[in-house]
Amino acid sequence: MAKLEDIVSLCKRRGFIFQGSDVYGGMAGTWDFGPLGVALKRKIMQTWWKYWVEDREDMLGVDAAIIMNPKTWVASGHAATFADPLVECNECHGRFRADKLAKTAEGHDLSANITKDQLINAGIKCPTCGKINWGEVKQFNMMFETHVGAVSDETSVAYLRPETAQGIFTNYKNVVDNVYPDLPFGLAQQGKAFRNEISPRDFIFRCRELEQMEIEYFVHPNDWERIFTELLRDVHVFLEETMQLPANMIHEYEVPADDRAHYSKRTVDIEFDFPIGSEELMGIAYRTDFDLQNVARASGKNMEYRDKKTGESFVPHVIEPSFGVERLVMAVLSAAYHEDEVNGEKRTVLKLPEAFAPFRFCVSPLLKNKPELVEKARTVYQILRKKYGNVTWDDSGNIGKRYRKQDEIGTPKCVVIDFDTLEDDTVTIRDRDTLAQTRVKINEL
Ligand code: ATP
Repeated sequence: MAKLEDIVSLCKRRGFIFQGSDVYGGMAGTWDFGPLGVALKRKIMQTWWKYWVEDREDMLGVDAAIIMNPKTWVASGHAATFADPLVECNECHGRFRADKLAKTAEGHDLSANITKDQLINAGIKCPTCGKINWGEVKQFNMMFETHVGAVSDETSVAYLRPETAQGIFTNYKNVVDNVYPDLPFGLAQQGKAFRNEISPRDFIFRCRELEQMEIEYFVHPNDWERIFTELLRDVHVFLEETMQLPANMIHEYEVPADDRAHYSKRTVDIEFDFPIGSEELMGIAYRTDFDLQNVARASGKNMEYRDKKTGESFVPHVIEPSFGVERLVMAVLSAAYHEDEVNGEKRTVLKLPEAFAPFRFCVSPLLKNKPELVEKARTVYQILRKKYGNVTWDDSGNIGKRYRKQDEIGTPKCVVIDFDTLEDDTVTIRDRDTLAQTRVKINEL
C-alpha cells in the first residue's frame, strides 16, 4: 500500500498538486492543481461526464451559479443544520471534529451527536496534547458567508454553495417546464463547493474548497428501490471498469438509520482503501421528495411532474449519487502509485490507466546533440501530437533519467528515435509497466 507522504511528495515534485497559495505560506484546506494535475483532473471529470451524461439517454447536464439566492439554504435546511460537531480541548485549546476523534469497533466515525461526557467516558485523548479535558460539543455551521453588492449588512449576506445538489433542485422546474424529459431522468452537475471544514486534512481528501460531481435522479415514488439498485450497480461499473479502480479496494457501507439524514430511507457510502485507511469516496442516497417539497414550500411554485402516459401528477422522489473530484483523483493516484526495482535501482511508477495519464507518449531523440536525431524525433513528435494531442517531448539528461521521470508521471509509452530510425524508419517503444522495448515502424505508431 502506498504511503500518503510519498504520494504528496511525488505530486509536488512532478507538478501535479501544490498547497494552495504556497508562495505565501499556504492556505489550509486549499490545493492547486499544477500542469500535470490539471490534465489528470480534467480527464477524470470528462470521463465522469461522458459515462453519466453523454452516454445515457436519461441524463441531462446543468451548470448553476455558485452564489445562489440565500433562500436556497434556508429551504434546504443547510442554514440551520449544515454543521459539524466541534469540540475544544480545555488544556491546549485545539479544536476538533468530535465525530472524527476516534473510530468505532467497526471502523466508522463516532456518532455526530456525541457529547462531551461520552468523549470523556470513552477515554478519548486530545490528539495534540494527550489530555482528557473536553469542552461542550457545539454545532459549527460550515457554510462560507459573503456579501453581495455594495452594502455589507445582514440583508446582503449570501453563501458560497456547500454542495452542487441545490443548484440542480433549483433548476428542476425550469427543466421540466421547458425541456419536459421523460421520467425517470437525472440532472447532473460538476462544480466547486465550499465547506469550512473544522480540520481539513489528509492532503486533498478533506478540503475547504472542493469540486463535486452530483446527480439528482428523479423517479416515481414506487420505483425508488429498483432504481436505487440499478444506480448502485452503475456506480460500481463506473468505478471498476471505466475508472479502472481495483474492485478489492472498493467497499459498500450501508449507512445505518441512526447515521442517515432523517429523510433518507437508504444511503450507501462507497469506501475506498486510501493510504489513510478505508474512507468515503462517494455516496448514493435516496432522498425521498424532501428537497423538491422544500423548494415548493419556500418558492410557492408547483414541483409536480405530469406523467406523459398516465397523466398522473406527483412530486418525484430523488436518488442522489454524489462524487467528490478530489477524492476520485486521490483514489486514482493511490491505486496507481507503485515502487519496484529496475536493474537494482528503486523505481517509482504511476501505473495510471492510459485514459488518465497526463501524456500518452513521450518522444525523445536518443542523443540531444545529434541534429539529425533531434530533427527526426521532432517529426515523430508532431505526427503523434496531431493524432493524440497529449504527447510530451523530453530531451533532458540521459535516456535512463527520462524513463524514470516518465514512469513517475505515468506516461505509458516512451518513443525513442535512434540511428536505426534514420535507416529504416522504425522507433523503439518502451512500455512503462512491462518495461518491454519493441521496434515499430513510424507509420504504424
Ligand atoms: P464526510 O462525511 O467525509 O465529511 P460527507 O458525507 O459530508 O463527507 P457529502 O456531503 O455526502 O459528504 O458529499 C458528497 C461527496 O463530496 C463525498 O462523498 C466526497 O467525495 C465529497 N466531499 C465532501 N466533503 C469533502 C471535502 N471536505 N473535501 C473533499 N471532498 C469532499
